[in-house]
Amino acid sequence: MKRNIAFRDLKKEIAEIAGFLWKKSWAEKNAGNISVRVDDFFKVHNGKWKEIKILDLPEPFPLLADASFLITATGSRMRDLAKTPLANMLVIRIHADGKKYSVYFHKKNGNKNLKPSSELPTHLGIHQLITARGSREKVVMHTHATELIALCQHPQIKSETEINRILWGMHPETIIFIPKGIGFVPYLLPGSIQIAEATIEKLKKHDLVLWEKHGVFSISKTLSDAFDQIDIACKSAKIWFMCKSAGFEPEGLTNEQLKQLKELSEKFNQ
Ligand SMILES: [Zn+2]
Repeated sequence: MKRNIAFRDLKKEIAEIAGFLWKKSWAEKNAGNISVRVDDFFKVHNGKWKEIKILDLPEPFPLLADASFLITATGSRMRDLAKTPLANMLVIRIHADGKKYSVYFHKKNGNKNLKPSSELPTHLGIHQLITARGSREKVVMHTHATELIALCQHPQIKSETEINRILWGMHPETIIFIPKGIGFVPYLLPGSIQIAEATIEKLKKHDLVLWEKHGVFSISKTLSDAFDQIDIACKSAKIWFMCKSAGFEPEGLTNEQLKQLKELSEKFNQ
């Protein structure tokens, strides 16, 4: 994604992807949240946004000084976001000290009574990790991906190794597009600093993070790519459940086949 995001395109993509999350049944009621780093766009367009308030951050984010993010509001529904994204999102700008942030709503289409997502610490922690490693992802997406939640409800599937073995084994493209696999975070209280820290730790070595019995986090350069990664993982989980429901144990790909696919994925990503 170019650094200078065309706002109209971004708004259209948010609406489209929010609609997909809802249609996939991964976004019941107000489930899920999205943040997009928008520094350049916000510098150009900040006249269209009005500052509502200044708040303290739950912990300092020094690497995010002066960064701006478009983020879903707490309580907002993906099905509403699909129709009117600006009425369900806010911009937050981190102050130069990395300890406070300003909240803005869109003057024409926004709602000044909104508050940022309750998962703000996790979103900011992930964006800070992206900044620290100098990578170019701009999007952080959380959704209640049903198939993956169901997978970690299984009493014998409680380890990262087992989850990835199942998902990679069900379809050749899973290991190609999710080569670092899913990091697994055993159950922790949503919205807490502990779950934010555990998620960031897992994202250091994985493409996605699965919160036990809750949902999934994806990071990417675009909203479509973040969605696709979750969609691919869910496809594999669905195949596994279909085989089980039909009464047989899925064979899965062999270790040799997975090794070949991983080598292919490394060529793709060079
Ligand atoms: Zn959630």
